[in-house]
Amino acid sequence: MKAKKERCDGCKKTFDKGTLRRDDKDAALLYCPDCPKVVEQYEVRGWHKDTEEDVFSDGCQIDLGNSSGGDERWEHERLYDLITMLMAFVGTTDDAHVLLDSCDDVGRVDIQVYETITGVTACEDEMRMWRRGQIRLWLCTYIFHIEHVTREPVRLLNTTLALTYKERG
Ligand SMILES: [Zn+2]
Repeated sequence: MKAKKERCDGCKKTFDKGTLRRDDKDAALLYCPDCPKVVEQYEVRGWHKDTEEDVFSDGCQIDLGNSSGGDERWEHERLYDLITMLMAFVGTTDDAHVLLDSCDDVGRVDIQVYETITGVTACEDEMRMWRRGQIRLWLCTYIFHIEHVTREPVRLLNTTLALTYKERG
């Protein structure tokens, strides 16, 4: 009877089933004991925010728009959880505010909310008051870019460094 074999996604050699380990939850990649640990995850580096006052009867006031941003970073091995973190940062729990690959920009996530003059996400009451012209609100678009990142240790002796430095004994 032929034993079950599995292939290592690192070195591509085959091993008996059960020998290989799995390093992350989403990608079903398997590695043998000789292959270094590989971490795959999704990352966002920095954000950008476009703000413009939206007058309910009159639309967005382009002249009054302004931009800001920051260099906060987020990372997670699951996309869904990463976007949940971004939504928490913006201050919304509503999926309808999230736009994927926005403006045909691959990996871009826009999250759009209304904010009060103090920069807090407007609640339903505040939205109602705004529609009646009682308070001012600003339409804010938070823009993020999600990247898929693979991290693995460098096999230093396979690089040109090996010509310069000694192998550790
Ligand atoms: Zn391997």
